[in-house]
This record gives sequence, C-alpha cells and structure tokens, in this order.
Amino acid sequence: HSLKAGAVSAVSGVRHPILLSKKVLENSPHVFLSGKGAIDFAKHLGMEFQPMKWFITKQRKKQLIEAKARQSVLLDHSEKQTDKFGTVGAVARDKMGHLAAATSTGGMTNKQYGRIGDSPIIGAGTYANDQSCAVSCTGHGEYFIRGVVAYDVSCLMEYKNMDLASACKLVVHDKLVKLGGKGGLIAVGKDGSIALPFNTKGMYRAWVKEGESPQVAID
Ligand code: ASP
Repeated sequence: HSLKAGAVSAVSGVRHPILLSKKVLENSPHVFLSGKGAIDFAKHLGMEFQPMKWFITKQRKKQLIEAKARQSVLLDHSEKQTDKFGTVGAVARDKMGHLAAATSTGGMTNKQYGRIGDSPIIGAGTYANDQSCAVSCTGHGEYFIRGVVAYDVSCLMEYKNMDLASACKLVVHDKLVKLGGKGGLIAVGKDGSIALPFNTKGMYRAWVKEGESPQVAID
C-alpha cells in the first residue's frame, strides 16, 4: 500500500536474504543494497551468517560442474524435475487487502560473476501494489528485466483495467515468448484472484485461500 520495497543482491553468507531485504525496507533510506555494502549492513544489524560450506549441496555442486563442462548457463526449469530446488517466491494478500511479494534466488547456475538477475529488481522479478497485484517471477532473468515483467502485469491491470488472469496471460504467454524468455510467475490480485502462469514445462507452485485447503501443482 505504501510501495515500500527492499532488496539485496550479491550477498554471501547471509542466512536469510529475504529478512535482510525487509531490513533494507524498514531500517534504511534505500531500496537496493548490493555486495559488501549489503553484507556490512547485515552484520551491523546482527543478522545470521553461515560459512560458505553451509550453502553448498552435493546436488547443486554437481549441477555447477556439469554446466561448466557444457559451458552453459542453466535455469532450474531446464533441469530434471527432481533437481528443481531453486528460486522461491511468495505473494500474499492480507485481510485488509494489502499485497506483498518476495523472491529469493541463487540466480542461474554457472552465471558470470557479478551477474544480477531479475529477482531483486523491483518491477522486474518482484512487485506489489495495492492498486493492482503482487507478483513474484521465476525464469531466465535477463528477459524478465528487459520485459519489466512484474510491473508490466501490474500496469496492464492499473492502466488498462485488465483482470489478473488476462494480464498474466498476455505477459507470460505472449510478450515474454516473443522476447524468447522462459519462465513463469505467481500473482495475487487486489480482488484476491490468483494466477500462476508459466511457459516452461513445469513450475512448482502452491496456493491457499481462506477457508479452502492448500493446493499444490508441478506441471
Ligand atoms: N530468475 C532467476 C534469475 O534469473 C532465476 C530463477 O528464477 O530460477 O536469476
């Protein structure tokens, strides 16, 4: 409702990057901190850190070695289903009708050092606005940045009066596809509607509405 936002990128050792992003929103005059500055900010606030080895899993290491050997940059979505443990996003609408979105990611496997994806970029991979919707994206970040995807969905609703499903369909199944971008998003509209579109083979997703049982889906 306030359009407040917080983001961090290029942080290592920080146990909970989303909590750190929330601290940027709440405890700093800025929106986006990166690298050493973001890490120093986390230390200053006494946030939890873990040693580098804590973040390394066998499966992820294997994926990285394979991607390096193939000289390719991979999306979780391009891997086998059992290997999909990457980007996590959440969107929510509270009983006051306020909307919020958050996205956490390790980025793409074997990306170039210093590369920043769409996830922490407000309006590209993450956006929330009480006038329209809350959106969290996953997919090939470069295309989501170029398409300003999360904000595009919001704009279509705010300025063109489109409903959430139609706005998401246009952005994910038409505009993104034309750009060549693979991925999807989760979104909740100001009216409580839910949309979970993707143009990849699958996207792990779950949703729940008040008084209903939680649902999960993959394909
Ligand atoms: N969007 C993320 C990025 O490009 C990756 C992902 O969603 O899996 O960094």
